[in-house]
Amino acid sequence: MFEKIVIANRGEIALRILRACRELGVRTVAVHSEADRDLKHVRLADESVCIGPAASAASYLNVPALISAAEVCDAQAIHPGYGFLSENADFAERVEQSGFVFIGPKPETIRLMGDKITAIEAMKEAGVPTVPGSDGPLDDNDERTLHLARDIGYPVIVKAAGGGGGRGMRVVHSEASLLSAISLTKAEAGAAFGNETVYMEKYLENPRHVEFQVLADMHGNAIHLGERDCSMQRRHQKVVEEAPGPGISDELRQRMGGRCAEACRQIGYRGAGTFEFLYENGEFYFIEMNTRVQVEHPVTEMITGVDIVKEQLLIASGEPLSYTQDDIKFRGHAVECRINAEDPKNFMPSPGDITQLHIPGGPGVRVDTHIYNGYRVPPYYDSMIGKLITHGETRDVAIARMRTALSEMVIDGIKTNIPLQAEIMVDENFAAGGMNIHYLEKKLGL
Ligand code: ADP
Repeated sequence: MFEKIVIANRGEIALRILRACRELGVRTVAVHSEADRDLKHVRLADESVCIGPAASAASYLNVPALISAAEVCDAQAIHPGYGFLSENADFAERVEQSGFVFIGPKPETIRLMGDKITAIEAMKEAGVPTVPGSDGPLDDNDERTLHLARDIGYPVIVKAAGGGGGRGMRVVHSEASLLSAISLTKAEAGAAFGNETVYMEKYLENPRHVEFQVLADMHGNAIHLGERDCSMQRRHQKVVEEAPGPGISDELRQRMGGRCAEACRQIGYRGAGTFEFLYENGEFYFIEMNTRVQVEHPVTEMITGVDIVKEQLLIASGEPLSYTQDDIKFRGHAVECRINAEDPKNFMPSPGDITQLHIPGGPGVRVDTHIYNGYRVPPYYDSMIGKLITHGETRDVAIARMRTALSEMVIDGIKTNIPLQAEIMVDENFAAGGMNIHYLEKKLGL
């Protein structure tokens, strides 16, 4: 195991990584921006290094500063968390070229999966079901493109190969607007991702978002930890996640999970990863792979008992997986509510001082957050300030515990989305389970 690692992230995930390091006896270096000196994990880490001003581009995305922090502190590895540089193949490469271990997949795997078109091709080869669509990028032959869309059948969705974070996508309902939609998406993708390549897929009208968690080591072992349903979304951003997925049979779980694990073996995957699918009428359609730990990993941890972040550290240090597929047993149900510093009505970010904080507790309640009494939420970063996770023997129990936990949670001084989460937890359709990805926006009248 490593003696010391750099945690190249901030907020709740940096604290989550620090906790896993503590358990494994790994010393930690917190790197932080000038605005983040008071972050909880910075105070708890063995060492801390300021890597630049508040703006992410000058700090958390500042590759030379991150590498020199690892050098100065004599660390052996860098954990990228999620967001920031976690899926940046060039960064992973720089880390390895500088003689450190990147806690994640090989740079070439990140590159393969980071381009949605090559990812889809790799999945097709591995026998993972994908969305019907253009085989690869759209070219300049308008006739061919129009023909292709007719074959796929409207509506179609035009997507940027390099897209992410719910951006770089456009739904097209009829032939009249297809070509202009493609030009627009190309231009936007070029500006946002530096890559104009776009492709086309069938637009699934009422799917759920169901994703599979995998773990793979450097010795050819790969397992799945079942699925999560993340269909409660606003603007393609997840709001509530749960595991297992309502109505997913164990037979289907093992079959799909098994295919994802097999795909990992075929592409030589290592580390933790997630295969994201749209799920409609009993069928799965691969949309993308996330080659990192995800925000919603705790719901899987709660029902399997596997510490995903600890496994990431063990895998990166060359250990074999701690579990075989047969060791993985699913117990009960877990729900996660993302807690954001934002206005629950208009979703405007609400940074500022936390004047009063009460954290809920009781059986089956887990809170992953870096905030504390007196902490100032800075305006420069993502508005997520924590996650509330509940577990119970059944889905109903997990939801009931979430309602209680939300009612106990007090965060004064800033606005949060707790009222919105409380509303979702008493919604009868959410309680029924299996709502599609449009449900939340429809409920909110968006
Ligand atoms: P990103 O990398 O930006 O998150 P994804 O490919 O994961 O992009 O898609 C994000 C979301 O966009 C999905 O969760 C889904 O809500 C919607 N989406 C993407 N592709 C399709 C499709 N073919 N049909 C319907 N919805 C889609």
